[in-house]
Amino acid sequence: MTGATRVLVLNAGSSSVKYQLIDMVDGSRLASGLVERIGESGGRLVHAPHGREKREVSALFADHAAALKAVAEELTADGLGLDSPELAAIGHRVVHGGLRFTEPTLVTEEVLAEIRRLIPVAPLHNPANITGVEVARALRPDLPQVAVFDTAFHATMPEYAARYAIDRRTADEHRVRRYGFHGTSHQYVSRATARLLGKDPAEVNVIVLHLGNGGSVSAVSGGVCVDTSMGLTPLEGLVMGTRSGDIDPGVVFHLHRVGGLSIDQIDELLNRRSGLLGLCGDNDMREVMRRADEGDAEAKLAFDAYVHRLRKYLGGYYAVLGRVDAVAFTAGVGENAAPVRAAACAGLEELGIAVDPELNAVRSGEARVISPEYSRVTVAVVPTDEELEIARQSFALVHQT
Ligand code: AMP
Repeated sequence: MTGATRVLVLNAGSSSVKYQLIDMVDGSRLASGLVERIGESGGRLVHAPHGREKREVSALFADHAAALKAVAEELTADGLGLDSPELAAIGHRVVHGGLRFTEPTLVTEEVLAEIRRLIPVAPLHNPANITGVEVARALRPDLPQVAVFDTAFHATMPEYAARYAIDRRTADEHRVRRYGFHGTSHQYVSRATARLLGKDPAEVNVIVLHLGNGGSVSAVSGGVCVDTSMGLTPLEGLVMGTRSGDIDPGVVFHLHRVGGLSIDQIDELLNRRSGLLGLCGDNDMREVMRRADEGDAEAKLAFDAYVHRLRKYLGGYYAVLGRVDAVAFTAGVGENAAPVRAAACAGLEELGIAVDPELNAVRSGEARVISPEYSRVTVAVVPTDEELEIARQSFALVHQT
C-alpha cells in the first residue's frame, strides 16, 4: 500500500471528543486519546501516542474547536500532525443517519444539512457529531471527511421488524420507526465472529450481544442485520446502565397524568435514572456484581432483571433467525463480565447453547470461543473495535472515489 494510509477517527460527544489515528497498512494505532469536559471547568486531554508515555493536559477547552486544536497540537508534537500528507481521511462517528444514509458517506454541505435535519430524532448526539465534522473540516478543508453512521448496518431490517404497529401516516410524518444503534459494532463483531469460525460472513447466522453502558442485541443473517433491539432512539430493548430498555408506553402516560411528571422529567428518568442504576443505585456492572455477591438484594434483583431481558432477546432472535451458528458477547460488560455470560446462556443446552466455565473464566483481549467443543452453537467473546471499523470504511470509501 502506498500514498496516504492513515485515517483519523473522531467520535465527538456533547462534551467530549475521542480520537484514534490508525495506519491502514496494518490497522495499528499511531495515537489515541480523549478530551473531556469541553465547555466546562476541569477540562482534560489525555493523549496516548503509540509506544510512548501518555500525556495529560488540563485546561479550559471552550468548545469543540479548541479541543480539536489541542489534539492537533499533541499529534504534531509526535510528528503525526494533521498537515501530514500521509493522512488519507478523517472518519466521523455519526449516530443517526435516518433512512437516507445506509453507507459511509463523504461529507458535503448537502450531507451535513441532512444530518442536521435528523437532529429531532437524535437530539443528544447528532449536534455534537456535526460540530466534530465542522471543526475537523476547518482544520483540513482539503481532506475527505467521511461520516460513518451508527444506524447504517441496521438499514437492512425488513419492514415488519423496523415498523412500529402504529398509524402509518403519523409514523411516516414524524419519521417514527426502528433504526437501531451500535451498528458499526454489530457489523464489526458479526464479521469478526465469522472469521473466528473460519467462515465467510455470508454463511453464518450470528446473535451479537453488545453490552456496554448502553446495550443492544442484533440478529445477523448471512452478514445482514435482520433485527436489533434499539429503536427510534437508544432507549428501547435491554436493561442498560441507566436506561430502562423496553417498557409499556402506558407507563409514560401514567407518570404524566397520575404522577404529575413532565415529559422532560420522564425522558430524564427513563434515560438517565433507570436500568441498573434505577434498580439498585449503581450503573457499573462490576459494582452490581460485587454487591450481589455480598448478598445485597437490590443488586441481585438488578443483575437478574438485566439477565432476564437479555435471555428474552437471545431466545427471540434465535426464533427470528431459525438457525444460529454463533452468539457473540462484546463491549464492556460482554467482554469482561463472565457471570453475565454464564447466566445469559444457562440452561439453554436444548437450543445448542452452552458455556464452558473454564473457557468463560479466561481473561484476554482476543476473540475467543467459550462454548464446549460439543455445543452446536459457538458462544464467543469478540472484542469490538468501532474505531477500526470506522477507519476501514472511511479508507475504503476514499479509495473508491
Ligand atoms: P462500554 O460502554 O462498552 O465502555 O462499557 C462500560 C461498562 O462495562 C461499564 O459501565 C461497566 O459496567 C462494564 N465493565 C467494564 N469492565 C467490567 C468488568 N471487568 N466486569 C464487569 N463489567 C465491566
